[in-house]
Amino acid sequence: MQPNAFHKLLLLLPLAYQHTSNDARDESHWNYETNGKNWGGVCSSGVRQSPISLNVQKSLIVPLPRIVFGNYDIKLKGPLTLLNNGHTVHMDIPETTNGKKPFITGGLLKGRYVADGLHFHWGSPDSRGSEHLINQQRFDVEMHIVHRNAKYQDIDEAVNHKDGLAVIAVLLKIVKNPKLIFPGLNKVLGALPRVTKYSARTTIPGGLSLGQMLGNVNPRDFFTYRGSLTTPICQEAVTWSVFSQVLPVSYSSVSRFWKLRDSEGHRLINNFRGIQPRNGRPVFYRVGKDLSGAYLGK
Ligand SMILES: [Zn+2]
Repeated sequence: MQPNAFHKLLLLLPLAYQHTSNDARDESHWNYETNGKNWGGVCSSGVRQSPISLNVQKSLIVPLPRIVFGNYDIKLKGPLTLLNNGHTVHMDIPETTNGKKPFITGGLLKGRYVADGLHFHWGSPDSRGSEHLINQQRFDVEMHIVHRNAKYQDIDEAVNHKDGLAVIAVLLKIVKNPKLIFPGLNKVLGALPRVTKYSARTTIPGGLSLGQMLGNVNPRDFFTYRGSLTTPICQEAVTWSVFSQVLPVSYSSVSRFWKLRDSEGHRLINNFRGIQPRNGRPVFYRVGKDLSGAYLGK
């Protein structure tokens, strides 16, 4: 080696080192390769982590107030943008056409929680991909609508507080010939082929209210418990409300998720976290008045 070349190599070494250490620290560089077992911090040391396995028999059946949905029936102000961020497909939730934000209250929640964004978790052609299990069953897709406690300025502040976030989870299940098409959900799932590539964005055409994303689910029948974000850094800031009724959707609409790609060009599949220990936490189950247990998981 020429002395000159050796000198150049010495100059390059610190740059190479700095590059890898930045990657390791960067929160956006995590993945699902070990099903979340190598995630650090609260993800591994926490005691109120999510998702968990939900079971009617192991829940406290209590007369909780129902969840109240504010401005969920009013059209959102466009343009609505769907983004492939490499971990999921995400939609920011804007104001409604009357200049207000959709919000929820009720259930275990104290005060108002303002809708911030929604995203999905899914499996692959060979495996189902919901995060929560209901009565030992995993479903095909799980949608999360993330809300922030109105007393905090933004999500970054809210994640640092136990009462910071409220997430509504809706499970989807593939059925052979769905009798119903849910127009809102269908618009969003229909846009998936336009965000196949990492960092691709697309606009959802036509009007959409947040309530339309819930299909015909019975919002009075749900599990609720205190847990965490299911992605790094897994802050224990979330009051979860998981609807027990599962929405039927077609194979072709769910299969669009499996064609998405992450930042490295790999297939973006199985983006769900494994089941976490309950650690004695209470899980509450609210029985919707007009639903019998026979509907569960069906
Ligand atoms: Zn999620």
